[in-house]
Amino acid sequence: MSTKQTCPNCPPAAGTRTVFTLLPDIRVLKCRGCQLQFAETYPDLDTAETEIYGDRYFVEAIEQRRERLTTFNELMTEIESMVGRKGRLLDVGCGDGVLLEVAADNGWEAEGTDVATAVVRHTRDTKGLAVHQGEVEDIALERGSFDVIVLNHVLEHVRDPRATLSRLRDLLADDGVIRVEVPNVASLSAITQNIQSRYNLKKNRWRHYETGHHFWFFTPRTLARTLNGAGLTPFQISAPAEQWGRVSRYKRTLNVLYRLTFWGGHLIAYARPGNKP
Ligand SMILES: [Zn+2]
Repeated sequence: MSTKQTCPNCPPAAGTRTVFTLLPDIRVLKCRGCQLQFAETYPDLDTAETEIYGDRYFVEAIEQRRERLTTFNELMTEIESMVGRKGRLLDVGCGDGVLLEVAADNGWEAEGTDVATAVVRHTRDTKGLAVHQGEVEDIALERGSFDVIVLNHVLEHVRDPRATLSRLRDLLADDGVIRVEVPNVASLSAITQNIQSRYNLKKNRWRHYETGHHFWFFTPRTLARTLNGAGLTPFQISAPAEQWGRVSRYKRTLNVLYRLTFWGGHLIAYARPGNKP
């Protein structure tokens, strides 16, 4: 059984319109109130979790371990410059736990959560990392105990982004920082691919629409709205094309343009705890 979804930011009376029909029984909707796009239904994770996030889901990430070590070392440098210290880090949707390893190597005390039982067996039982299985709303963690919380391509997967973020706001220290990265539905490539697909120049739409495990499609504006609604105040939002590792000089130049226009594929927000609405 799957659940019908509504906009987490607006009352039901705000209404929705259909952006397009993804599968015969699943539509992508757009809230008329805040313009957030989302999948009409969400699966029941109690029965579908192993189907969606089974062993095969993590194969590619595990194979790219070396590249990801480099990427996450750069990410930790960025995060430390944002929060100004080392401390406790929570990686929500930590997957195979490479960020937890890198954070620990950089002097952080790191914990992770993930809904996927297969990958938690790998990270917790084989690698011995501090990983909790389940949705973060349901896991017993101490309020105000984390200096940094990271959601790296995770918020688009969760059942209710407002509930998740609201919970994470409570877990953050008063001067803590949350970093959220999601695909950018307002990116130049998403817009181009959707137009090409509409006019039958291309078979598929923007690839993040069709994964079967992405349910929320954020723009810079709707991500900021969702953070604010959960009592988090964004202080930096950017949308680079590619950020890490061996990025060519051409791409680095292009990134300057993307950062100014918010056209890049990666949408990144840093936020601090604010007042809960
Ligand atoms: Zn809305």
